[in-house]
Amino acid sequence: MVAKTMRTAIWQGDRVAIVEDIPALVCGTCSEQFYDEPVSDALRRLAEDGFPADAATSEIVVPVFSLKGRIQKPKQTPEDVYVD
Ligand SMILES: [Zn+2]
Repeated sequence: MVAKTMRTAIWQGDRVAIVEDIPALVCGTCSEQFYDEPVSDALRRLAEDGFPADAATSEIVVPVFSLKGRIQKPKQTPEDVYVD
């Protein structure tokens, strides 16, 4: 386990908030993150307050992408063709 400072994105409905400066312990094997109770409490309180805009330390513009029209059908191979 390694102590690191993390950043995460949390969705609430259609809104997303970035939270940074999160102290965490990170597993060196599987990268799972563990927050201690005061850290989890602080995150939960922020979420319960609905991430108030006047509490934000900064804002960023985030590009949004759609996969509509970008998903390519795999080429049909002989195994995919079924004959009844
Ligand atoms: Zn692990």
